[in-house]
Amino acid sequence: RAKSDGRHIARFFDPGMQAAADRQSALETGLRDGLARHQFVLFCQPQFSIRGRLVGAEVLVRWRRENGALVSPGDFIGLAESSGLILPLGHYVLEESCRALARWRGDRALGKLKLAVNVSVQQLRGPDFPAEVAAILARSGAPSRKLCLELTESIFADDKQDLADKMHQLCGQGLCFSLDDFGTGYSSLAYLKRFPLAALKIDRSFVHDVHVDPDAGPIVKAIIALARQLKLEIVAEGVEHEEQRDFLARSGCYALQGYLLGAPMPIEDFESMYGAAGHA
Ligand code: C2E
Ligand code: MG
Ligand code: MG
Ligand code: MG
Repeated sequence: RAKSDGRHIARFFDPGMQAAADRQSALETGLRDGLARHQFVLFCQPQFSIRGRLVGAEVLVRWRRENGALVSPGDFIGLAESSGLILPLGHYVLEESCRALARWRGDRALGKLKLAVNVSVQQLRGPDFPAEVAAILARSGAPSRKLCLELTESIFADDKQDLADKMHQLCGQGLCFSLDDFGTGYSSLAYLKRFPLAALKIDRSFVHDVHVDPDAGPIVKAIIALARQLKLEIVAEGVEHEEQRDFLARSGCYALQGYLLGAPMPIEDFESMYGAAGHA
């Protein structure tokens, strides 16, 4: 008895677990402070049509810590989601993205681009999300037709009628939706028809070995054929090699995103690299 209690207590004070919990709460405090101190910055990755024309960009958030370290979303989005901080963070990202779209209006090259912004399921769950987006669009003066919200399949685990209603409300404001990381989640094909989607993004795990794995190629071809039948645009993510690009081109893919074409970069760099203003 005493022995099992002892073991129980010993487990409770497991120094490894305690250390992990301490790291989590330090990270959460860091995230909270980081938000207050505007340490989150927007990176942009270009998206090109299969013929090589720049058609858009995806916003990817980064956390620039006080010590100068640049932290990738993979290391903090999960905690931002479980702690609720994704709500102010998501708001900030959307607001900055819309300010960029408003700035780009006056630029011959940038003004044509669509900007894709990742949105978490928690954000869409909020009853006020459509109104929040409307307010951000109005305040920023961004053209809503250039804004695209990227959702992952996890969204479909939620109340589907509520989700469909919100998506329709948002579409009514002029923006559009794409389904990110397609094929990795638990999406039913029926959802592709039920929700107002404009595009599918083929997950990079499929793109990765499209030219070497005899199974990956047919899967990507099937996704592209499905998207075409449903009149959805298609973006392949994670394109790193020419062989992948060539395969995707032959398979009828519409747009490409990946290190081969351009890595994510600070939004200011993106603007000076692709904007017309500087070269006019
Ligand atoms: P995602 O939306 O699927 O974004 C694509 C990820 O692939 C990005 O990682 C991008 O940097 C990376 N990538 C782009 N091209 C290549 C390539 O050729 N090869 C490889 N291996 N990777 C490539 P990143 O920036 O680390 O973002 C990771 C994820 O974090 C994103 O995946 C997205 O789900 C999430 N995320 C990023 N920004 C936000 C945000 O503002 N809000 C929310 N809710 N999630 C975000
Ligand atoms: Mg994305
Ligand atoms: Mg993706
Ligand atoms: Mg992905």
